[in-house]
Amino acid sequence: MSGEWQGQLKGFVNSIERLKQHINLTAEEEKILTETKTTWGTTPYFASLMDPDDPSCPIRRQVIPSALEQQNQFGMEDYLVWKENRATEEVRPDSIARQYKDRVAFTVTQVCGIYCRHCFRKELVVDGDLELDFNVDEGLLWLAEHSEVRDVLITGGDPFLLSDEKLEYLIRKLRELPHVEMIRFGTRTPIVLPQRIDAGLKKVLGGYHKVPIWINTQCNHPKELTEETAKAVFELLSCGVNVGNQAVLLKGINDDVETFRALHQKLLQVRIKPYYVFYCEAAPGIDHFRTPVEKGAELIRDALRGHTTGLAQPMHVVATNIGKIPLMPDYYIKDKDAQHYTLCNHKGEQTRIPNIPE
Ligand SMILES: *Cc1c(COP(=O)(O)O)cnc(C)c1O
Ligand code: SF4
Repeated sequence: MSGEWQGQLKGFVNSIERLKQHINLTAEEEKILTETKTTWGTTPYFASLMDPDDPSCPIRRQVIPSALEQQNQFGMEDYLVWKENRATEEVRPDSIARQYKDRVAFTVTQVCGIYCRHCFRKELVVDGDLELDFNVDEGLLWLAEHSEVRDVLITGGDPFLLSDEKLEYLIRKLRELPHVEMIRFGTRTPIVLPQRIDAGLKKVLGGYHKVPIWINTQCNHPKELTEETAKAVFELLSCGVNVGNQAVLLKGINDDVETFRALHQKLLQVRIKPYYVFYCEAAPGIDHFRTPVEKGAELIRDALRGHTTGLAQPMHVVATNIGKIPLMPDYYIKDKDAQHYTLCNHKGEQTRIPNIPE
């Protein structure tokens, strides 16, 4: 079977020659691509969105390796082992990462439709230094024995690069577990490979079920949102699948007020609900993408809250080994005494509400 999306993967842009069909490489980019051993590349579709002449193009920077990846001052060693609690006492298959009681992340593949330069799972997905065994049946068995898990987040890599048959099997097996109340997927395909959302996949995902499917994609810049993506999202929604976004805050890509606001407004325009904005994690080799910790909260304060609809507002979180920690602006409560709370809005205006004793 070979549909349009398989064609996109066959034509995967992961050589200098193929990249040159889309952009004019700088001498520096070409040098790095010649020397690097890292996995890199994306689909011809996503490559076609790159600016042919601007090396600082936000799409280009997510795709093409930089010399700065070798400079690692702040990245933590064995980051994923720490982050995914792999060194703790509970025995789990490699495919199951756990930080919470009621939900887990279930990794089913290491393959992606783009090898993001800012990926926090770089050691695994991009550089392949960490070798893990993602046996789906082993993960399913573990889940069957853990009735406290009501929410399974299927991740990768990109799970939507699995065949329809494999996805159908996975979803069917999860729905057979009486304690699983919802199935989630993390996938960049609506952004980098919208062709994946085809009739075959809709058949696998769609329809009314007691156990719903929620997906979160990752879009980091308004330039990534095209008519193709809008249609793919519409197809997902129209078959009963909810679509959210998990952006990564990236220095020089989306960390200014205008871009940050445009990204979140445009996501709603294509029917994607902003869910999270992640602080760029302390994984090795991505220092150059990382902003100060406060930046995300500042952007929510200055670009979103009050400036545009609450629907456009994600929660800013830092993902850690003990779970996702919200880092949100905290200017709202200006003062409080026994009688009143003094509240502050995005313009600095103040108002008072009564302080109700318990
Ligand atoms: C992110 C994550 C989840 C899901 O967290 P939500 O806040 O529910 O989206 C679950 N398990 C792990 C290990 C995660 O990293
Ligand atoms: S698609 Fe996700 S897992 Fe794959 S490289 Fe990008 S951020 Fe990492």
